[in-house]
Parts: sequence; structure tokens; C-alpha cells
Amino acid sequence: MPLKRTILGPTGLEVTELCFGALPMGPLQKNLPLAEGTTLIAHALRAGIGFVDTAQAYRTYAPIREAIRASGIRPVIATKSAARTYEEMEAAVEEALRELAVDRIDIFHLHAARVGPEVFNERAGALRCLLDYRARGVIGAVGISTHDVRTVMAAAERPEIEVVFPLYNREGRGILGGTVAEMACAIRRSYEAGKGVYLMKVLAGGILLDSFAESIAFVRDTVPFHAIALGMVAPGEVDYNVAFFAGEPPAGPPPSIAGGGKRVLVTASLCQGCGTCIAGCPNAAISMVEGKASIDPHLCLRCGYCVPLCPQFAIRVV
Ligand code: SF4
Ligand code: SF4
Repeated sequence: MPLKRTILGPTGLEVTELCFGALPMGPLQKNLPLAEGTTLIAHALRAGIGFVDTAQAYRTYAPIREAIRASGIRPVIATKSAARTYEEMEAAVEEALRELAVDRIDIFHLHAARVGPEVFNERAGALRCLLDYRARGVIGAVGISTHDVRTVMAAAERPEIEVVFPLYNREGRGILGGTVAEMACAIRRSYEAGKGVYLMKVLAGGILLDSFAESIAFVRDTVPFHAIALGMVAPGEVDYNVAFFAGEPPAGPPPSIAGGGKRVLVTASLCQGCGTCIAGCPNAAISMVEGKASIDPHLCLRCGYCVPLCPQFAIRVV
């Protein structure tokens, strides 16, 4: 059975319910070599996944570009940037066009993981840039990716935002500015306001992998949405997810369980206690303990955002 396809809100873009999340395969986490990453994404495209989510910070434009070349399949592409000013966002959009070798980015988000609704004022220049590119037809739709309930709620009221990419999972891991129920309410509000809605971290960065089916069922039962982005790092994982979303649940656990869950570690001997990673963690999972960074595994979403922040290369995703 093919993957379910749907129109992403007002964008007119047809997406598959299963979206390929390109964070975990990249340098912030698994760091697959270009050839392996290309093969993985091409495999996902050939398996029917028609929606790919990436970001300037994920540094996975090259394997997406090469996978499109290798497969001849052009998926819907969403990307995002944490750029603050008009000029920075312009550079981010041009980088995406160049590195992806496309003449149009389907969805471009303000990358605002842990920022509250003040993001729309604080980064007004960046947003204006995206809207200008949309007016020229270079961007298909403008969106926001966020972990914050209040930002999802605010996005629902803003006509210029067409796509909302919120964090949502049954344990509420990583949700900022409210509870699971409040995030569900905000997502509903966005959907009912006509936004395209796709969800991130429904497995909490892999923490909920051992309850894969229950976690997906929770999301499907509690909020309306158009798609779910799942990070994938191996062809077997792609096959499992495609079969599951096509309504043919495979026997046995997802392959990542067999391979063991990933963890984020600080090498204490390298850590200089500068605190840079603490400020950069979207989930307040890092604290300073006796002069060294310490990651709380119960709060860590395994996003890898802290990895490139460390000047001592002391943080690793393993
Ligand atoms: S500690 Fe690092 S990997 Fe974990 S949530 Fe924070 S930024 Fe992400
Ligand atoms: S950024 Fe690196 S060196 Fe600085 S506190 Fe964090 S782990 Fe330690």
C-alpha cells in the first residue's frame, strides 16, 4: 500500500504523511559520509517518501541534492534557518538554493526551537526576507518550527505563516511554555486556522522508540496534522517506517532498537566549563556540575544541537 498523501494546508503542496527528517543522519548526530547519506535518502525517495525536512544547521543539503540527482525524484523540501536579520536570512535562502541545486524551496521556516512568540518581532527582518522571496515565487510557503506552545498559538493568528512545525510527543519531552495538553490545543488551533501542520520529535529523538506504535497512535489520536517528520539513519529504518505508515506494520521492533539508542555524552577531560552549550540547548538539559557540563538524560532530546557549539569538541552523540 502506498503512503498516504495529503495537501499541506494552504500551500497546495502534496506531501506524504511520513516525512524524512534529515537531522539525525547529518554531522550533528550520525555523520554519515556523503555517499552513504545520498544512498539513504535516495532509498527513502524510491520507497515513496515525498517530503524531506532539513535545516541550514543540519548541514545535510549535499546528500539531499545528490539523492534527487540519483533517484530523479524531487520531494517537497522544507528547510529552516535561525537567521535573525534580513541579510542573514537572504544568505541562508541563497545557500539553500545553491547547495540543494533547486530554483525553489517549497517551505522555509524561521528556525525558532526554543523561542517564544517574541520571535516574530525580534526576527522581523528575517521574516520579511522570507515573505519577499515568497512573493517572488522562490519560496513556496513560509513557516515556523518551534518547541514552544505559545509560539504555535501565536502562529495560528498570523496570516503570513502558512506552515507550523511544532514539537509534540506523548511524554511532553521538549515541549516549552506549556503542557502536552496545551500543545495539543495550540496545534489544533493552528490546524483549524488553516495552517499546514507537520510534527517533530513524536518519538522524542528516539527516546520513545520502544513504544513506537503507541507513540504514533497517541499523536494520531490527539491532534490533527498533515505529516510527521521522523529522523532516519539506515535503509532498514526507512523500510520499517514506510511499512508502518503504509498500514502494514512490520513484525518486531524498529531497527534502531536492535542497534541500541543513541546517547549524548560530554567527555569530562575535554570540557573547560565555558557554559556555551548550556545556552544553546533547546531543552535546558545541560547544567554545570563541579565545573563540567552535565547532560540530564531525562531532559535531553538527542537533537545534537549542542555538539557544534562546544569549542573543545567535548560533546558527542554516540
Ligand atoms: S543536551 Fe544537546 S542533544 Fe540534548 S537536548 Fe540539549 S542540545 Fe539537544
Ligand atoms: S561548550 Fe564544551 S567546553 Fe563549554 S561547557 Fe559545554 S561541553 Fe564544556
